Amino acid sequence: MLSYRHSFHAGNHADVLKHTVESLILTALMEKEKPFLYLDTHAGAGRYQLSGEHAERTGEYLEGIARIWQQPDAPELLKPYFSAIRNLNPNGTLRYYPGSPLIARHLLRQDDKLQLTELHSSDYPLLRNEFSKDSRARVERADGYQQLKAKLPPPTRRGLILIDPPYELKSDYQDVVKGIQEGYKRFSTGIYALWYPVVLRQQIKHMTKDLQATGIRNILQIELAVRPDSDQRGMTASGMIVINPPWKLEQQMKELLPWLHQKLVPAGTGHTRIEWIVPE
Ligand code: SAM
Repeated sequence: MLSYRHSFHAGNHADVLKHTVESLILTALMEKEKPFLYLDTHAGAGRYQLSGEHAERTGEYLEGIARIWQQPDAPELLKPYFSAIRNLNPNGTLRYYPGSPLIARHLLRQDDKLQLTELHSSDYPLLRNEFSKDSRARVERADGYQQLKAKLPPPTRRGLILIDPPYELKSDYQDVVKGIQEGYKRFSTGIYALWYPVVLRQQIKHMTKDLQATGIRNILQIELAVRPDSDQRGMTASGMIVINPPWKLEQQMKELLPWLHQKLVPAGTGHTRIEWIVPE
């Protein structure tokens, strides 16, 4: 039984980090003419109404995207991400937030492909409707981890695989590593971007150890914390683990993270981190 609904969290600081990294990777892939696949294993509903009951109840987006999307000193590197936000909010009022599939839809070209899976009985139909007229996209109600076996390698041998589970089940921390291993066996030159929450630091330490033990190389970790680590309930930080990152990503995030942290966390608590879990 799936209870997680992303609509409660859309546009929060974790989405800002995730979607910033996603947009930079997609932009880098588009520097070459050859088309590619965007595979989103846990795609969500696609579009989130920020004035809706769920988002209003938590107000998380107010401490996330609402703090940055209209800042005059925003770095140029955020342009692709912000253009997806503006596309849904053309009159300057923040009413909708684009999830990862809509950011990709906005940025991708005619010949690129989107493969999206979502299991939730309420979110899947919303996602399918969003893409009903987009011939580049295939939307399935299926297990995201299975896609890493079924859909790789893509025929064009280029792609970004975004893995963004809700971590509702403790087994997700192991399943993401197994899933990446399966995908990597079939498609070792793909870019894999795994999102993680920091609720208990120990879980992330185990997950990164497990990833190191796979033997996969070229793994970059990017993290933004809004509070120090804690053993109390709740997410204090989130991060992206990127396998085979575009060569510019480390430098781009070194430039962006201090700005994002300063704007998202005016109190200055927490930290930012960019580290190679495994070098090339
Ligand atoms: N990637 C989305 C974004 O950035 O906009 C948000 C995804 S949300 C964090 C995780 C989603 O995974 C939820 O909508 C949940 O219903 C879905 N989900 C949970 N288990 C799944 C599975 N095994 N396969 C596919 N989707 C799953």
